[in-house]
Amino acid sequence: MERVERLQPSFVEEVPEKLQPGVLYVSIPYATAVHCCCCGCGEEIVTPLTPTDWRMTYDGESVSLSPSVGSWSLPCKSHYVIDRGKVRWAAAWTKAQIERQWARDRAAKAAYYGRPLEAAAEIVSPPVGETTPPRPHPKRSLFKVVVNWLFGPPD
Ligand SMILES: [Zn+2]
Repeated sequence: MERVERLQPSFVEEVPEKLQPGVLYVSIPYATAVHCCCCGCGEEIVTPLTPTDWRMTYDGESVSLSPSVGSWSLPCKSHYVIDRGKVRWAAAWTKAQIERQWARDRAAKAAYYGRPLEAAAEIVSPPVGETTPPRPHPKRSLFKVVVNWLFGPPD
């Protein structure tokens, strides 16, 4: 397993099936960035770009992602910052730190969407027309999807 120290941006419509290590795939239509874990474990890291998840900065050459990428649900527990294309390794978090961050993330999303998180998916995919009957709550809310990315699927 070889650590990746630099990430080159690749702007794509859709993220390819097979990811190249050292490439940060950025899909503007899907507002998502995806890359292979920089530790070399080969796991796919998905970072949704939203006002309450990650922000991406592109300076014409390299990309930065903020905040840091923490793969707590993966065996490698990798934690790093992508800063102008450079991977800066950070210390792994403790369980308590992860839980605090999770609570902060929840609060930020609740404040941003202004209503319970379970309904957030409806904001992302608004009703298509006036005649559309009210839909039941989606089983897989956006929040759960994000949590699955961050912490792995529930048991
Ligand atoms: Zn890894």
